[in-house]
Amino acid sequence: MYLSAFVLSALLLCALRPGAAEELHQQPPGRIAIVGGGIGGSSAAYFLRQKFGKDVQIDVFEKGQVGGRMATIDMDGAEYEAGGSVLHPLNLHMKSFAKELGLSVRPCRNSLAGIYNGNEIIFQQSDWLFINIIKLLWYYGLNYMRMYMWGEDLLAKFARIYQYQSYDYSFSSAEQLFHALGGEDLSIKLNMTLDDSLQKAGCSKKYIDEIVTPAIRHDFSQLPRINAFVGALTLTATYTKLWSIEGGNMLVCPGLLEASEAQLIKGTVTSVQENTGGIEKLYKLGYETSTGPHLGIYNIVIIAAPINKEISNINFVGFSPPIDTSSNSYIQTVTTFVHGQINSSFFGFIEPCQLGLTDILTTKNPKLFFDSIGLGDPVKGPPGTLQPTGQKVWKITSPDPLTKDQLNLLFTSYHAVSAKKWLAFPQYNPPGKLPPIILHDQIYYINSIELAASGIELSALSAKNVALLSYHRWFGINGQIDQEDLVERFKSEL
Ligand SMILES: Cc1cc2nc3c(=O)[nH]c(=O)nc-3n(C[C@H](O)[C@H](O)[C@H](O)COP(=O)(O)OP(=O)(O)OC[C@H]3O[C@@H](n4cnc5c(N)ncnc54)[C@H](O)[C@@H]3O)c2cc1C
Repeated sequence: MYLSAFVLSALLLCALRPGAAEELHQQPPGRIAIVGGGIGGSSAAYFLRQKFGKDVQIDVFEKGQVGGRMATIDMDGAEYEAGGSVLHPLNLHMKSFAKELGLSVRPCRNSLAGIYNGNEIIFQQSDWLFINIIKLLWYYGLNYMRMYMWGEDLLAKFARIYQYQSYDYSFSSAEQLFHALGGEDLSIKLNMTLDDSLQKAGCSKKYIDEIVTPAIRHDFSQLPRINAFVGALTLTATYTKLWSIEGGNMLVCPGLLEASEAQLIKGTVTSVQENTGGIEKLYKLGYETSTGPHLGIYNIVIIAAPINKEISNINFVGFSPPIDTSSNSYIQTVTTFVHGQINSSFFGFIEPCQLGLTDILTTKNPKLFFDSIGLGDPVKGPPGTLQPTGQKVWKITSPDPLTKDQLNLLFTSYHAVSAKKWLAFPQYNPPGKLPPIILHDQIYYINSIELAASGIELSALSAKNVALLSYHRWFGINGQIDQEDLVERFKSEL
C-alpha cells in the first residue's frame, strides 16, 4: 500500500516536471515539421538529423526566402548584406557550420567610427589603438574599462552554453537555460535595463548617452532600455574583430538544409492543431503552397519564426491552455543602400575630404531620421572593395523608409538606391516573462530565446537546444534536461 502510493506520487511528479514528456518512445519519430527556413529552422533540421538519425522525415516550411533575416541585396551588380551581417569570434556554431559546409569566412573591414549628435561629430575614432584608449580615458575616464569588464564577465558565463551542449544538456525554458549559465546574475540582467545595469557597474550617464546609445541604436534601433543581457552581447562586439561568410551569411541555410537531407516545402503554414482520435499523439499542419491548401501530419512540430500575427500568423487551433500569439511585437528597421557621394557638410565638415569616417553612429535626437550610416562592403572580394565607378556604397539604417528629401540631405549626389524593410528585432521592454520553449507536448519554439537576445548565433544555439530537448523528451532521458548544477559539475570534472 505504502509502496504503491510512493510509486504513484513519483509518477505524478515525473508527469508534472516541465521537461518531462507525456509518452515515452522506443523508436524515433516518423515525421518532424519545421516552420521557417532561416538560420533557426535550417540549423534545427541539421541538429535534429544528427540526433534522431537518418530515418525520420524532416520537412522545412518556408514562405519567403531561405535565410530569412539573413539576406543580401543587389546594388549595381554587387551583393551586400541587408540583414544579419556580422558575427562575433565566439559564434562557434556559425564557425563550425562554415567549416562543415566548406564556406570561406572573412574578417569584416576595419571601422573608423564617429558619433554624430544631430549637429556635429562629438567623438571620432583614430586609426591608432593607443590614441583611441587615450581619447576614451580623456573624455570618459574609466567608463570604457568598467563596461569592458562588465561585458566580459557576462560573455564568459554565456559561453558555458557550448560546453553544456557538447555534453547534450538541454533546457525546457529560456529562464532555466539562463539560470544554469549564470545563476541569479544572468536572470537579473534579463530583467534589468542596460542603462540601469551599466550605471550599477559604475558607468556615467554621459558615457551611456554618447557611446552606448549610438551602438544600441545602430544594432537594434532601440535605446539602452533594452535588457542588459542583449545589451552586453552587443557591446562586447564593439571591441572585437568581427567576421562574416564570403558570398553572404545566408549561404549557411541552404547548405544546412542539404546536409540534413530535409525536404524544403515552399509554402506558408497557416494552422497547427492536435490530430485527435488516434492512439499516437500527432499534429495536423495546415499550409498553403502555389497549388493550394494542404494538410500534413507530424509527430513533432518546431516553430522557427517569431509567433505573432505580423510575422508568422499561425493559428494554433484548440489548444488548452491557448498558445499565446498576441505578444512579441517586433520593431521595423529599414536598410537602405545608396551608391553616391555623401554630404560631408551635413555632418559638420567643410571639405568633403575631411570626412574620413567609415561609420557614423548617432545619439538620441528627435530630429535625426536615421540610426546609423556606414560604408557597405560587397559580400565577395576583399573587405573595402569599391564599385567599378570608384564611388562608395553607403548602408543606412533607419526606423522608416528614407524620403527623397532625406536622401538629398545625406548625399550631394547619388545614382542608385536599394532598400529592404524588416520586422527586425523584438521590442525589448524589461522586466518581462520570456515565451515558453515548449508550446505543447511536442511543439517547440526556437525564437523564444529572441526575447532575451536576438542574433544569428542565438537562433542556432536555441535550435540546438530544441533538437536536444525534443530528443530527450521523446525518449524520456530526463537526466539531460534542466540540470541546475552544471557549473559545479564541470568545475569538479576539470
Ligand atoms: C537589419 C538586420 C540586421 C541584423 N544584423 C545582425 C548582425 O549583424 N548579427 C547578428 O548576429 N544578427 C543580426 N540580425 C539578427 C539576425 O539576422 C536574426 O536574429 C536571425 O537571422 C534570425 O533567424 P531566425 O531563423 O530565428 O528567424 P528568421 O530569419 O526570421 O527566419 C524565420 C523564417 O520563417 C519564415 N516564416 C515565417 N512564418 C512562416 C510561416 N507561417 N510559414 C512558413 N514560413 C514562415 C520566414 O519567411 C523566415 O524566413 C539582424 C537582423 C536584421 C533584420
